[in-house]
Amino acid sequence: MSTQTEPANLMEAIVSLAKRRGFVFQSSEIYGGLNGFFDYGPMGVELKKNLRDCWWNDMVRRRDDIVGIETSIIMHPKVWEASGHVAGFSDPLVDCKVSKTRYRADQLFWAKVEFGTNTTSAPDAVAAHLNANDNVLGYVSALEDENITATLQSAAEGMKRKKHVQGILLPVQPRDFTEATADEVTQIPSPATGNPDLTPPRAFNMMFQTNVGAMTDASSVAYLRPETAQGMFVDFKNVVDTGRVKLPFGIAQTGKSFRNEITPRNFIFRSREFEQMEMEFFIHEDDDWAKWHRYWINWCKDWLLSIGLPASHISEYDHLKEKLAFYSKGTTDIMFKFPFGVQELWGIAARGNYDLTQHANASGKSQEIFDEATKKKFVPHVIEPAVGLDRIFLAVLASCYAEEQVTDEKGNTETRTVLRLSPRIAPVKVAVLPLLKNKEQLVARAQALYTKLKRKYPCFYDDSGAVGRRYRRQDEIGTPWCVTIDFDTIEKEGDTFTLRERDSMTQKRITETELFALLEEQVY
Ligand code: ATP
Repeated sequence: MSTQTEPANLMEAIVSLAKRRGFVFQSSEIYGGLNGFFDYGPMGVELKKNLRDCWWNDMVRRRDDIVGIETSIIMHPKVWEASGHVAGFSDPLVDCKVSKTRYRADQLFWAKVEFGTNTTSAPDAVAAHLNANDNVLGYVSALEDENITATLQSAAEGMKRKKHVQGILLPVQPRDFTEATADEVTQIPSPATGNPDLTPPRAFNMMFQTNVGAMTDASSVAYLRPETAQGMFVDFKNVVDTGRVKLPFGIAQTGKSFRNEITPRNFIFRSREFEQMEMEFFIHEDDDWAKWHRYWINWCKDWLLSIGLPASHISEYDHLKEKLAFYSKGTTDIMFKFPFGVQELWGIAARGNYDLTQHANASGKSQEIFDEATKKKFVPHVIEPAVGLDRIFLAVLASCYAEEQVTDEKGNTETRTVLRLSPRIAPVKVAVLPLLKNKEQLVARAQALYTKLKRKYPCFYDDSGAVGRRYRRQDEIGTPWCVTIDFDTIEKEGDTFTLRERDSMTQKRITETELFALLEEQVY
């Protein structure tokens, strides 16, 4: 019998499991770690590879209209000038002058603390603490969280108590730091010190710089790519000339990107080195971009379901028209309910022909395509679904993690931790367990099965400890099935094993042929 329970703190539970079971480690941990960088352990690297492979198979190999490429991480610096990244790939940065802490201005929220009465009618005790000529008691600030309004409201109440004043506060109106006037900037407290020690926001370019070659002067400056997308634009003509492609078609790649994020946070959600999976889908300039945009939003959502993410955690967010870049026709984010709130997982942008046109102008090389039907040349338009592999990894861990209270036949209750990973992405597909490790016949049969299985599927051989313990170890890394080679296997007819299913914990007997058929059907 089992009942599901909620861990007290899901994020802590995931980070702890990730470390304990070899999914994710802090980078350079023995030196204290490096903020915003992570390593993937033996289980993590398999899960990540499976996610990448599923995306690649579904996006590239199983389609006739998309080809893959792999471009270099360091590209000609002119690429990043043409794309607009040198001038504009920045986040607004705020410094705390005293603590030296840095914040992203759009993640630092603040509010005026105001009384419902004006100065003249306020009781004297209140008026003494109000700013001259208005009913403002002061300012509060906090870093963005899911309940920012409640957080700031309670800080406002705290301020009222601290100043020992009576009166009804107005509900706070949170705004981010980029919306503060010069005067307000001088009054908003730094979350680090509680005093108004913040600088005005300034643009901070997030590209990592390096130098190519032995010289370290301005002429050798280069950048680690902040996105993989530009590789597809810069190689567009190469693919058209060699790839036997016809509009509409896409170019896809997966690979590392680097952003010097001001505040890397939430584990692998926002890091400084991460992996992207991006695809540029080129369409005719007269084609219906909105139709293709919707097509790719739906495709991405379906794909997330196919790897086992729950529909209940997935939603859409349309960027406001007035906040879009001038060339953008529309951007929709697929949002995911992470333990720390609903956040962007996958962005699907309709970018017009901006990128190819920029590169045509900057390089002097035409990026046009010839249209046989109209005998006209034109620059194709593009729809771009862009997702972070590490973010998908985190979404998977967060939504597949479960704790259950399990009671055995003797009435003993214990907590079972289980990762309900889809067989498509589980690092280990099946574990082979001989019931006893000192019974030659059991071991021989188990080894024979293991040798055969591992030619096709990642699997694991475990003969140490009680079978129940071995099942639990596999539950924690998300192995969908365990097969136990027991006395019935060798003594009874039929050469069957016990197949134990991870989620239901049910057991049944199965032959080798049936086991391979099950794997063939579920692992794709
Ligand atoms: P955000 O608003 O979260 O900074 P973004 O809109 O700048 O993201 P894009 O430039 O559209 O992100 O990048 C495409 C995808 O790459 C994002 O949807 C996200 O999944 C992933 N991504 C972006 N930045 C990071 C990061 N620092 N760490 C991990 N993944 C990231």
